[in-house]
Amino acid sequence: MVKRISFPSMGWSRIAFRALFEKLPGVEVVSPPIVTREIVKIGAKVSPEFVCLPFKVTLGEFINMIENHDVHTFIMSIDCGPCRLGFYAPIQDKILKDLGYDAEVLPIQQDDLLNFKWAKTLLQLSNVTNPIMKYVDVIHSTRIALIKMSYIADITKLEGLIRCREIKLGDTTRTVDLLMNKLDNEWDVYNLHNFDKVVKREFSKIPIKRNIQPLRIIVTGENHIVMEPFINMDVVKKFGEEGVEVHLVNTLYDWILHKLHINLKRKKLEKLAKPYIPLDIGGEAMWVIGHYIEAQSHGFDGFIHLYPFTCMPENTARGILEGQSPDPFYLPVQFYSLDEHTGYEGMRTRLESFIDLMKANRENNPKFMNNYQEPPEIKAIFDDKTQEDGISRFINHIFTPLANNIGIILKNLFSSEESKPNTREN
Ligand code: SF4
Repeated sequence: MVKRISFPSMGWSRIAFRALFEKLPGVEVVSPPIVTREIVKIGAKVSPEFVCLPFKVTLGEFINMIENHDVHTFIMSIDCGPCRLGFYAPIQDKILKDLGYDAEVLPIQQDDLLNFKWAKTLLQLSNVTNPIMKYVDVIHSTRIALIKMSYIADITKLEGLIRCREIKLGDTTRTVDLLMNKLDNEWDVYNLHNFDKVVKREFSKIPIKRNIQPLRIIVTGENHIVMEPFINMDVVKKFGEEGVEVHLVNTLYDWILHKLHINLKRKKLEKLAKPYIPLDIGGEAMWVIGHYIEAQSHGFDGFIHLYPFTCMPENTARGILEGQSPDPFYLPVQFYSLDEHTGYEGMRTRLESFIDLMKANRENNPKFMNNYQEPPEIKAIFDDKTQEDGISRFINHIFTPLANNIGIILKNLFSSEESKPNTREN
């Protein structure tokens, strides 16, 4: 029997989630439609009032898929960390059943990916009887999902860096949509391993302004809110269209590397944040503080923190950033506390005034003058016109497959100081 399944979209992450299940025998994947105001309203209506906004949004997505797409099985990630993510799947399952829907929410465990509990969900879904072949399918699916995840991270990163430079408004958005669509429909492993060339080629077609020094900000916060553009009102795009270079630091790939215990970038951030927040209290709280400290020391112009209105960990992070005495923090920060009632107009006026503040700092405040450095990615895409041929082509085609999967790991291993993880014990 074939099971029709779906999952929450979390922005472009839906491409990686689809990849994780699409090739499992016995599974028919229905990709979730993009989140809309109506979906959020449906979820908020049947959820407890003070539950996290991502809970309401994802529940709304499930109900929409039951009613309009004939899907009755949903995969929801769970954690056993200190915040509420661990309760999402069982409570959403209960709410759906109480509402009379014939539906099930299957949890996929992501608290520690090295314990491989997550694989049980995939093995359960597969209808292959041969146990060895089941594992082969799961390994293949995981591999494809990881590769796609790494490209989603690359594309969204470049999006933030390039949009502020585009000459023709909309070029970056069109390129991102085109690349994501290609990535979603690419299943050939060889082509996937070489997809970095497609990314580079498509972005390099965008006519851009060089020799500008745009304002630079970091956008971070709770993962779902940061990665779901409908919920954060596509703040990355809005800032980009206003000429601000956006460094978007939350990606699914980054999170998965963290859960595999190989994300040394995060360990470095933990170390920076430790004097202010000695342990992981859930959400992205600890890393938000680390990113803020790093952004300030790297001469950024501003910092954007996005989080759900009732999110304990992110509210705590905000309190820490605002409540130091004496205050070592001077990097301008804007907090966006979002819920299902948030509208764009209020955000727009705040966003514009924040840009004015950063511009004034650039012109008058020595702490923000002459700090700008062009990201190396811009040079790599728009200056490097080297055509590969002969041996270099051969070498690239041998090594690129490895590079995308383990590049970040190796880079971190050889360039970052390892720090002790922050746990309750230490
Ligand atoms: S991080 Fe915040 S919003 Fe996300 S599950 Fe935890 S408490 Fe809820």
